[in-house]
Parts: sequence; C-alpha cells; structure tokens
Amino acid sequence: MSRADKIAKAARRTAQEARDAASKRRQEERKKRANKSLSVDAHRHCVVCWSPIPLDRDPAVCTESGCIEKNEKREAARKRLTLMMYLFPGIAVLLLILQLAGGVG
Ligand SMILES: [Zn+2]
Repeated sequence: MSRADKIAKAARRTAQEARDAASKRRQEERKKRANKSLSVDAHRHCVVCWSPIPLDRDPAVCTESGCIEKNEKREAARKRLTLMMYLFPGIAVLLLILQLAGGVG
C-alpha cells in the first residue's frame, strides 16, 4: 500500500468518525430539547445557589435564608458601588470648579 493510499484511508476514516460524532451529538441535543419542552416549565434560577424558582419571584432568590441574606448583601454592595461611581466624579468636578474659582478670584 502506498503512502498516499494510507493517508487517503486515514482521512476517510477520520471524516466518517467526525460525521458519526456529529450525528450522535445532534440526536442527543434533539432528545434533550424534547425532554425540556415536555417536563420543565418556564422558570428562573436563584441568583445565589441556582436552584429553580418560580418565574415571577422577585428578588430572584429561593426560600433559603442563606440565599436571601447573601442576595441582600450583594444588592447593598452593588448600590454602594453605583453611588461611588457618581460620587467620586462629582467630587472631582467640584474640586476642579473650586480650584478654577479660586484661580480666577
Ligand atoms: Zn438559593
């Protein structure tokens, strides 16, 4: 068997394997999708532990007290960060204005 024959055979085999793998994956995905549409209603997940919770739950945490606490802490931290994002540039602008006023006056 020549070298070219060997390479061609190997390439064919690899292509066949790739096709098989792809079709298997497609079938699995189809199965998964079918299961999903049959058994799982629309829902969201707890932002802390990712367990499924009802869609209309607000805030998006489960009933676990640890999750509620953690979410509250996160929210507080987020609010603080947002405040700082406005506060620090505000102070910088204020200082700049004061300096300009002082320089002119
Ligand atoms: Zn949770």
